[in-house]
Amino acid sequence: MDQSSTRLTPPEEPRAFGFFLDGAWVPAGDREVFERASPGHGVPVTRIPKCTHEDLNAAVASARQAFDDRRWSGLSGADRAAVLLKTAEGIRARAEEIAYWETLENGKPIAQARAEVGGCVGMFEYASGLARSLHGDSFNNLGDGMFGVVTREPVGVVGVITPWNFPFLILCERVPYILASGCTMVAKPSEMTSATTLILAEILHDAGLPAGVMNVVTGSGSTIGQALIEHDQIDMLSFTGSTAVGRRVVEASGKSNFKKLGLELGGKNPQIVFADADLEDAADGVAFGIGFNTGQCCVSGSRLIVERSVADAFAAMVAEKFKKIRVGDPLDEATQVGAITTDAQNATIMGYIERGQSEGAKLLYGGAQLDFGRGQYIAPTLFGDVTSDMAIAREEIFGPVLTVMPFDTVDEAIAIANDTEYGLAASVWTKNIDKALMVTRRVQAGRFWVNTTLSGGPELPIGGFKQSGWGREAGIYGVEEYTQIKSVHIEIGKRTPWVE
Ligand code: NDP
Repeated sequence: MDQSSTRLTPPEEPRAFGFFLDGAWVPAGDREVFERASPGHGVPVTRIPKCTHEDLNAAVASARQAFDDRRWSGLSGADRAAVLLKTAEGIRARAEEIAYWETLENGKPIAQARAEVGGCVGMFEYASGLARSLHGDSFNNLGDGMFGVVTREPVGVVGVITPWNFPFLILCERVPYILASGCTMVAKPSEMTSATTLILAEILHDAGLPAGVMNVVTGSGSTIGQALIEHDQIDMLSFTGSTAVGRRVVEASGKSNFKKLGLELGGKNPQIVFADADLEDAADGVAFGIGFNTGQCCVSGSRLIVERSVADAFAAMVAEKFKKIRVGDPLDEATQVGAITTDAQNATIMGYIERGQSEGAKLLYGGAQLDFGRGQYIAPTLFGDVTSDMAIAREEIFGPVLTVMPFDTVDEAIAIANDTEYGLAASVWTKNIDKALMVTRRVQAGRFWVNTTLSGGPELPIGGFKQSGWGREAGIYGVEEYTQIKSVHIEIGKRTPWVE
């Protein structure tokens, strides 16, 4: 592992943000303020207000008013598309600023942050087309006396709660689709990583989004987040985060107004490698699948399931890749793996590494904190001799920790892959089309990669099977998620009387 020279540096003073309400910034004023330190540098970088319950109520009321008076949903799809396209331009123009603050608050490498921001431009551009193409259906087969029409209508006011692992990307996998549908919204980013959500609200405003259509409240999940999920003026809630909080979201919906839910929760995603794969490609993909974003991805490939005949040799190839990954200062353009985003997550990952060893797994590579003089870093870590009952094989670690389990038959590989409560994503590596198709059909996962991993874009939907969540984001499926369907029967001509 090496560290190349750093070009960018953290700011001298933390940047102070307000929150975004009804088309304008509200300064922190006398509210409490959360000071966020960069996990890569250990210095304060942003100051974010802790919104009060009154602030949340004002944001929800603003979004409610903006929805009910149809200032957004009443526009044509073409007019909504124009705002989304202008937003894409605005993101492009401020890409460097967004990437910088994303890196500082999250700890991800600046090169990766830049690439993610580029992907977000694509999300807005793609969703702008969907604003124009979203449509319902018609039934001309109901006889001469009846015509049937099915319309799609926006669900209403959407609450969006996003996590700290991809603050801007996960937001942009949702916001343009929500707006394309005609909904209005209140976003609550993770308190750890609020900056880029607030910047997006300003870009949307500058692109001509009417006041009140996008509001951002800031503060902790347990206070302002909990109040948002319980709010009875929120019609739909999109939540991305842990399965534990996902359960609270479901409970809160049931106890309040049965708000519609979109949930993207945890994953324990298999990487199935057959002996006939291009093993060099597979080793690189497997290293990327767990190293990317320090393994703090819901879709990280955290369980390597490899054909026994090549298992030891392949694990050695992956360890060799791990050795070469450039871990270090997130602001260094050469860095591939940055810092662990939160202190709590750092402790969680180290706890699992200890637990893996105490449960009898064999540490093949890594397993330790890396000391760069500041910030918190963990070496990519590889465990062999893992059995399916071990915590490291079953629970979402959300860090750069990969477990290896061998298999002998296709059926066994599929059984191991499905032996989890989750079903978010899976990858298979083989040059045999039959095996690839068998595995793709039978492993339960919302996203699948064949001879690649972690590919994505605005066209294909994302979301999970089993306890990984409900609903889909992105693509046409993503925009439809934020609509509800109305069926309309239209009688043609004279009614056949009921009362003679
Ligand atoms: P959480 O589920 O606690 O946080 C995700 C989001 O939910 C954040 O915006 C958080 O706000 C908010 N939140 C927290 N509590 C509540 C609540 N009671 N009501 C409403 N919103 C709430 O994840 P953690 O950050 O604690 O991470 C814990 C574990 O969750 C990780 O180890 C990982 O396994 C998993 N995780 C999965 C993610 C995914 O992409 N699927 C993303 C993040 C975590 P705030 O941060 O301000 O408290």
